[in-house]
Amino acid sequence: MKPLIALVGRPNVGKSTLFNRILRQKSAIVDSTPGVTRDRHIMPGEWQGKQFLLMDTGGYCAANDVISSSMIEQTLTAIRDADCVIFLTDVRSGLTYDDLEISKLLQRTFQNKQIFFAVNKVESPQLTIDAESFVSTGFTNPYFLSAKDGSGVADMLDDILESLPESEHTDDDDDTSVKLAIVGRPNVGKSSFVNALLGTNRHIVSDIPGTTRDAIDSRFIRKQQEYVLIDTAGLRKRTKIDAGVEFYSSLRTEKAIERCQVAVVLLDARAGLEKQDMKIINMAEERKKGVLLLVNKWDLIEKDSKTSKVYEDNLRSHMGNLSWIPVLFISALTKKNLYRAIDTAEEISRNRSRKISTSSLNRFLEEALSAVHPSTKSGKELKIKYMTQIDSHWPVFAFFCNNPELVQSNFRKFLEKKLREQFQLDGVPISLRFMEK
Ligand code: GDP
Ligand code: GDP
Repeated sequence: MKPLIALVGRPNVGKSTLFNRILRQKSAIVDSTPGVTRDRHIMPGEWQGKQFLLMDTGGYCAANDVISSSMIEQTLTAIRDADCVIFLTDVRSGLTYDDLEISKLLQRTFQNKQIFFAVNKVESPQLTIDAESFVSTGFTNPYFLSAKDGSGVADMLDDILESLPESEHTDDDDDTSVKLAIVGRPNVGKSSFVNALLGTNRHIVSDIPGTTRDAIDSRFIRKQQEYVLIDTAGLRKRTKIDAGVEFYSSLRTEKAIERCQVAVVLLDARAGLEKQDMKIINMAEERKKGVLLLVNKWDLIEKDSKTSKVYEDNLRSHMGNLSWIPVLFISALTKKNLYRAIDTAEEISRNRSRKISTSSLNRFLEEALSAVHPSTKSGKELKIKYMTQIDSHWPVFAFFCNNPELVQSNFRKFLEKKLREQFQLDGVPISLRFMEK
């Protein structure tokens, strides 16, 4: 799995600027689907051929300008399972009390974690001299940089990537395990689900809301396939810091989803689909991960022969255009459908990496176009000449046509629906690109 680099520092030192600066180097396909939010806190990046995830912890904190103890605690929790930390300060505002507090905490809490200490906004010889004094934090090898103009950033990245674990962590292609993020709101049964699968009680399951646990990845093998369960059960924390709970869940969930191939979203059958569940599903969809929806605690529902059908129809009516997501009814308690869930997740992962030949796609296209002639607003004719699948981690289809601007959304939807009917793409987001040819 890709190593995770956490970016910390008080508000306004330039974390977001550095975040964007570092990620600008990445060569990944950026999805151009309209409406994709840019409000992300964990993003994949690449430097000198090495891949990593960068986490901006500040995005969650910047709302208030004052560093509170709970804010610091939240930041610490967020970076606990990062592989290394960039601690950013700002030469123009000088070292502040907050900087010193953060540095003390980092030094105290993470004695074994590599911390890259950086002074930002160093853009002149005088500022370089000023920045020298930042060693009083106790971090003796500061990087001087400017997130704005980019100076110094490359040198720091070289050192960071050098310090991170080699290939087995960075080379996704050699790793054939299926990575599943087990996500969902607190108390839906994530730990119980993981425990039932692993057949151990390594994870402590508890009725007490707010029990502190740490997330651990678990591996198991089924039918010769290795699985990694990326568990977010540790997201429940002391209720004392109420405001923090949402923060923990979001960040943990985001982190787990970023690292998975398939997001396994658990619901509590009694609660149904709530806003927070949709947020989690959307998080996975936006990142082009596979999604499987599991309605857990099905043992608690009084049923007749129609119950699951009615329940599913109701769920789907609230899921908008996410009808491609498979839904299963399970019970972590009675173990009903647990292995079916895993096998479905495996199938979704296979669908996600499915490569469809150009000749099959063009046969498909010919048929689809003979059924429906694309209408256009302007009366100009849209001509699609051929299509192909673009190499990517999820299915991306390119359509070459006379003028991409003539493509209307209902025609796009029609093509997506037909593609899903024809090829096995259950549980995976797909992207359609229209290009001029
Ligand atoms: P965050 O709150 O830590 O995420 O900080 P931001 O990235 O939002 O930056 C805070 C302010 O500092 C903004 O006005 C940025 O334009 C500015 N800033 C960020 N990096 C630099 C830098 O390298 N040099 C200078 N001069 N300004 C910077
Ligand atoms: P998590 O916070 O999502 O990890 O949820 P837990 O696994 O800790 O489960 C919360 C509570 O729901 C515990 O009391 C579990 O025993 C209970 N629970 C979990 N799964 C099931 C299930 O399938 N059926 C029933 N009846 N209870 C369950």
